[in-house]
Amino acid sequence: MKNTVELLGHYGSDEVIACSAWTSTSRKLDEKKRKRIPKLIDMLWSEGHETPFEKGSVHFLVDCDIASHIHLLKHRISSLNAESARYKELKEDKIFVPDDWPEAWQNELMLYAAHGNKLYHECIEALESRLGRKRAKESARFFKTYNSRIQADVQFNMRSFANFLKLRNSEHAQKEIREIAQNMLDLVKNIEDNPFRHTLNSWGY
Ligand SMILES: Cc1cc2nc3c(=O)[nH]c(=O)nc-3n(C[C@H](O)[C@H](O)[C@H](O)COP(=O)(O)OP(=O)(O)OC[C@H]3O[C@@H](n4cnc5c(N)ncnc54)[C@H](O)[C@@H]3O)c2cc1C
Repeated sequence: MKNTVELLGHYGSDEVIACSAWTSTSRKLDEKKRKRIPKLIDMLWSEGHETPFEKGSVHFLVDCDIASHIHLLKHRISSLNAESARYKELKEDKIFVPDDWPEAWQNELMLYAAHGNKLYHECIEALESRLGRKRAKESARFFKTYNSRIQADVQFNMRSFANFLKLRNSEHAQKEIREIAQNMLDLVKNIEDNPFRHTLNSWGY
């Protein structure tokens, strides 16, 4: 009954980002030049030379409630595909329950969602012969509750990831999307050998 985030993959590194900036002079790297990468990355970010950061990317699989899914969709500079209740019956009945609610209200929400899911499946069955399975599925989802969890894969380039973290890993953002953003950040920090170490440092993480 929790939202989850998994890192599916990543492309690039601090070095790829630095080389993108150095394309304007020379991309040739030696040890001496490699040592300049942290300072260069910091200078690029602090002075607003952000396009080299588009050369790195991070790709996540997110299983989350509909409200958080909508928050993710608002970020236009990203790429998102999601599980579709138009194309399949959502058989798993995955739900989200806020962990900061009192138990009595958590139980109410679970009951409410269970009732919605029961009607969802019954409605598909009842409408199928009249409207066809496709229309039955796509319209029966109106019984799904807002706390239904759906799966999406979302990819950001490192420039848009910084914008996402700034806006969503923030006290002003809703708790659920804030936790998703924090999970994403932790996953990127924990990539083997920390390839985006200096990039994350330059953003203040
Ligand atoms: C605390 C909070 C509350 C919010 N409340 C609401 C709300 O009540 N209602 C609501 O509808 N939304 C709300 N939002 C969503 C918000 O309005 C943005 O849609 C969302 O945060 C995506 O931000 P973005 O445009 O920076 O990101 P992206 O869409 O990923 O864009 C990234 C950056 O690219 C540039 N960019 C993208 N598209 C354009 C463009 N067309 N023209 C110029 N530059 C562009 C901008 O620099 C932008 O910052 C809220 C967001 C937050 C964080």
